[in-house]
Parts: sequence; C-alpha cells; structure tokens
Amino acid sequence: TISTQDLVAMFIAVADAIEADKDRLSELDGVIGDADHGVSLGIGFSAVKEAVAGLDASAEPVTVFNTAAKSFLNAVGASSGPLYATAFMRAGAAVKGKAELDRDDMVAVVAAMAKGIQDRGKAERGDKTMVDAWLPAAEAAAEAAQGGAGIGGSLDAAAKAAQEGAEATKAMLASKGRAARLGDRSLGHMDPGAASTALIIRTMADHFS
Ligand code: ADP
Ligand code: MG
Ligand code: MG
Repeated sequence: TISTQDLVAMFIAVADAIEADKDRLSELDGVIGDADHGVSLGIGFSAVKEAVAGLDASAEPVTVFNTAAKSFLNAVGASSGPLYATAFMRAGAAVKGKAELDRDDMVAVVAAMAKGIQDRGKAERGDKTMVDAWLPAAEAAAEAAQGGAGIGGSLDAAAKAAQEGAEATKAMLASKGRAARLGDRSLGHMDPGAASTALIIRTMADHFS
C-alpha cells in the first residue's frame, strides 16, 4: 500500500520529471498555444513539491492532495491551474478517511482526476486536450485492475494509454482552449496538455513499480 510519505515522494518525482521536461512541453505549446505550458506546470509542481514536503508525517493522503490542489491553484495563472487544482481536490475526495492507499484507491484517484478535469474544463473526448490522455488512462487503469494487476501494473496500463491518447491528439482538431483559435492549423501537432499528462502518469507508474 501507499503511505502519505510515498504519496509525497510521488509528487516530488512528478515535479522533478516536469522540471526536466519543461522545455519540450513549452515547445509543444509554442506550436499550437502560447509556449508557456512547461513553465506553468514547472511553477505549479514546484509549489506543490515544496508544500507537500512540508506536511507533517501524520497527515492523511487526502491532505496531501488538498495541499497540492491549493498550492497548484495559487501558483499557476494558466488554464492548467484550475484544471489540475480540481483534479487534485477530487483525488483527495476519492481517498478521504484512508490512512494508506491500495490499488483500488489509486485507480479511483486516476478516475477522479480525469473526471475533475472534464467537469472543470467541459472538454469532451476528441477536443484535443489533456482529457484525451486522462480519460483513456482512467479506463485502462480500471481494466488492468479488473484483470488482476497491482498498483504498479494498473498505473503502467494507465501510462501507456495516456501516451497513446497524447499521440492520438496529433490527428485532432482543437476545439477547446487556446489552440481552438488555430482552426485546422492545430492538425498534426500533439496537444501539450496531453503530452504532460502522459509524462505525469508515466512518472507515477514508474514510482510505484
Ligand atoms: P494556457 O492555454 O492558459 O496557456 P497551459 O499552456 O498551461 O494553459 O495549458 C494548455 C493545455 O490545457 C492545453 O494543451 C490543453 O490540454 C489544456 N486545456 C485547455 N483548455 C482546456 C479545457 N477546457 N479542458 C481541458 N483541458 C484544457
Ligand atoms: Mg499555454
Ligand atoms: Mg498561457
């Protein structure tokens, strides 16, 4: 199972992965957006890292997620700010009252994050957003768990599906967010939010494998 400390370490790993890849993410955003996605996520996850690292060891997992939500929202001015803040809040609500998280809790966390992002941003599948990576990831995690996979295996399935979902956004026409203004000029390019989603879930999976 996953303790509060494990969850904090996971957030730190995600923050470090985003930091290492932020130039690539901003370059992707430069093609169909305003070139700040890597910088925005870098600032957000670095704030999350600092906030969760400062939590008391006796804090519950819900507090880790709620702390992440608050610090991400306060740090990020881009549209990904409220989207991830909502995702973390929903993840927290999904594990409220738990002292440790098992496989089914982590599957519920991925599902809650996907649903939170969708509720907050109102994007549908195929709109060329991070939803196109989060939704397949949630489905793949649930399916893998159903098939008997453990925490690492379920998250690994989610990570693979997120990567495939991100690849699939290249063929999509953006109809939500900044890239929607480009019309068919967004075709052929990966959505930066979907790309960062794949990186985030891959890092989560590798952390627990
Ligand atoms: P901004 O567009 O404000 O600069 P970012 O660059 O941080 O914000 O994030 C852009 C990403 O946010 C897009 O690539 C897309 O994946 C995601 N996004 C934008 N609007 C929405 C929405 N309504 N629903 C879901 N995701 C969205
Ligand atoms: Mg941007
Ligand atoms: Mg911006």
